[in-house]
Amino acid sequence: MPDRHALLGPSGAHRWMACTPSARLETGIPDKGSRFAKEGTLAHRIGELLLRRRWEGADIAAALDEAHADPLYSDGMGEYMDGYAAFVEERMADAKARCNDPRIFIEQRVSFEGYIPESFGTADCLIVTDDLLDVIDLKYGQGVPVSAENNEQMRIYGLGCYLEWSWAYEIKSIRMTIYQPRLDSVSTATMTREELLAWAENELKPRALLAWEGKGDFCPGDSTCRWCRAAPICKANRDYQMALAREDFEDPPCMTPEEISEVLKRLPALLDWAESVKAYALDAAINYGDHFPGFKVVEGRSNRKYTDEDAIAGILRKAGYKVAEIYKPRELLGLTAMEKLVGKKKFGELAGAYIIKPEGAPTLVPESDRRPALNTAAKAAEDFNDNFKEDN
Ligand code: SF4
Repeated sequence: MPDRHALLGPSGAHRWMACTPSARLETGIPDKGSRFAKEGTLAHRIGELLLRRRWEGADIAAALDEAHADPLYSDGMGEYMDGYAAFVEERMADAKARCNDPRIFIEQRVSFEGYIPESFGTADCLIVTDDLLDVIDLKYGQGVPVSAENNEQMRIYGLGCYLEWSWAYEIKSIRMTIYQPRLDSVSTATMTREELLAWAENELKPRALLAWEGKGDFCPGDSTCRWCRAAPICKANRDYQMALAREDFEDPPCMTPEEISEVLKRLPALLDWAESVKAYALDAAINYGDHFPGFKVVEGRSNRKYTDEDAIAGILRKAGYKVAEIYKPRELLGLTAMEKLVGKKKFGELAGAYIIKPEGAPTLVPESDRRPALNTAAKAAEDFNDNFKEDN
């Protein structure tokens, strides 16, 4: 999983294979590491411990206690990791049915020598048998389901695991699985040894060499630039993002629905980029004294707040105000915080009958979104006219 010290790590392969100069351009730009990344690291640690206890007989009590004491831990996380361990158990049972001596490796460090210079990574879990090599990658994020099909990162892990074990097993196929418990998503792709090695030789190796040398063309795109650390300062990305603003629209002067669709499609990436430029400039101005002509750093707006709530309550009570007047009514924790406290499954069992999901406000999304289209005003009018004609 963590491969953050390699210039060409597997997790960034989708980017550096598409935009080969990106890896060198990112060098020196610190990876700030978000709360979500820290949460993912903790979940991986717990998953690793559970697997080591089950498959290596390790005594994990102290390490598990330490993980549970982390403020980012929740019962929900524990349940998700139990699910991960159960999934690996199933895969291992499957391996035992096929092979007499399957072996499981947990947090296995692999390198990609001969294909990617000075690169290495850590595979979350791999199960080796004759015929099939199973590579399982745990992703704790809850953004979007990630597909294992055509997934460069998974192929590189598959390659690394194959290189590590092909001397001992007659591996014919490599099965790559992304397990995303929070999205209830399991995505699997399988390649033959020949397919994977041909991809590695013909596509991975030349792109990795270009990336290592910092050569090749910049190739901006929404998914390519999304997690690039150079995104706020990269000119190619700036030109790509700003192309929309420069677009010459044809007569008539008002945008057509198709042109509005084009703007809507590009908006999320454009807004993300604008935010990343703003965050980069603020950090550079505050922490490195950089100056951006026409801008200055000022103190942001703030709201007054109490320094000692008990003291204020005491004073107001003495002044004759009642408890009910000066305190807010007690309030239950929100759903997310409550699930974190009780555990998602247990909370569902205890209180599921009292939870509803109200209708959401209408929102515009791409046609590919899985939600069914709403009966909008125009459609409602159409339906009304149809019904009216049928009735007459
Ligand atoms: S921001 Fe995009 S175009 Fe620029 S280096 Fe990164 S991936 Fe390449």
